Amino acid sequence: MDTIYFDNASTTRIDERVLEKMIPYFTNEFGNANSAHQLGRNTKVVIEDARELIASLIGAEPSEIIFTSGGTESDNAALKGIVAATRKKEIITSPVEHHAVLHPAESLKMQGVRITYLQPDKTGIIHPEQVEEAITDDTAIVSLMHVNNEIGAINPVEEIAAVCRGKKVPFHSDTVQSLGKIPVDVKEIGLDSLSISAHKIYGPKGIGVLYVKNGTPWLPWLQGGSQERRRRGGTSNVAGIAGLAEALKISIDEMEQNRKHCARMRDMAIQQITARLGDRVRINGPATTGVANILNLGFYTDSDYGLDGEMLLLNLDIEGICVSNGSACTSGAMEPSHVLLGIGIPEQVAKSSIRVSFGKYNTEEEVLYFAEKLEVILERMLATTF
Ligand SMILES: *Cc1c(COP(=O)(O)O)cnc(C)c1O
Repeated sequence: MDTIYFDNASTTRIDERVLEKMIPYFTNEFGNANSAHQLGRNTKVVIEDARELIASLIGAEPSEIIFTSGGTESDNAALKGIVAATRKKEIITSPVEHHAVLHPAESLKMQGVRITYLQPDKTGIIHPEQVEEAITDDTAIVSLMHVNNEIGAINPVEEIAAVCRGKKVPFHSDTVQSLGKIPVDVKEIGLDSLSISAHKIYGPKGIGVLYVKNGTPWLPWLQGGSQERRRRGGTSNVAGIAGLAEALKISIDEMEQNRKHCARMRDMAIQQITARLGDRVRINGPATTGVANILNLGFYTDSDYGLDGEMLLLNLDIEGICVSNGSACTSGAMEPSHVLLGIGIPEQVAKSSIRVSFGKYNTEEEVLYFAEKLEVILERMLATTF
């Protein structure tokens, strides 16, 4: 069997239709969109068409769409840009956010900014009442993700947005993992800012969007040329922008069929794995109330050491199966996932855990093969004592 790619929450294979849309901007239509000549004007039109399409797909105005280098830049620009503009000294977020939110928040501490972390429940969700209670006169921004990238939990962003609106505090949401999986409309949700990344939705790497609602206090974070109406300097990534627009359109057009496909694979995986492994495996976070494409599994053993999730991942890799363990590898030492620890999973189980994330190119046959191999590998690992 070919490589089985169950790591679609890390990145996805580009859709051929998206690639097709991008190719002209590497070849004949290579103009710099800021140039006044014909080649420049041509690509300028492509960018503005993409901006309009993307805006209409998420319920925004074209002037509210800023192209960035991806989800990380968008998250950084949202937090730093809003804090700089409001000059208030508090950020409200949660310990289970992506590092693209947590690390810039931490770095703002040096400018005297206070971070308030709201504790998620054991399914990974922040409740609107917690936001209501936490907001103070000094709150610059509330940043809470729409869908968690490790466990698939879906935050009640409409209710959280309503609380923020009532208190007149800008609400930013990292929607990198929700776009194309569940509906995202900035007006319906009531978002002031959101982050998009193309490579999580079968688009190219290195391109994303920061949406900032008109009227929201925000200062540009990356300065240079006059691109993006002086809100984000740097020569425009025309191919990326064309690819992102197409990827977003396809992911929304085909959302329902992809959701059903992933839900079938997830349910099959749960059924197969629990039938084979019984109570040695448990689902971390929401079992079936999260997005359909993310399944996080924790393993329970009698040993004091628990199961080594890194070793499990490597063993699966040998069998040609790609999964993730959400751990951060800092200087060779494995740290358990901050998300799993954040929802109260014991450290030993967090270290054993793997994230299986499905995508539109996966098949049920691959799920069956994975369940079979997982059982064999676990039996072997559990039989090995040290
Ligand atoms: C992948 C991811 C990011 C980072 O996006 P990049 O485009 O890779 O920089 C941010 N937030 C979440 C939730 C993600 O899954």
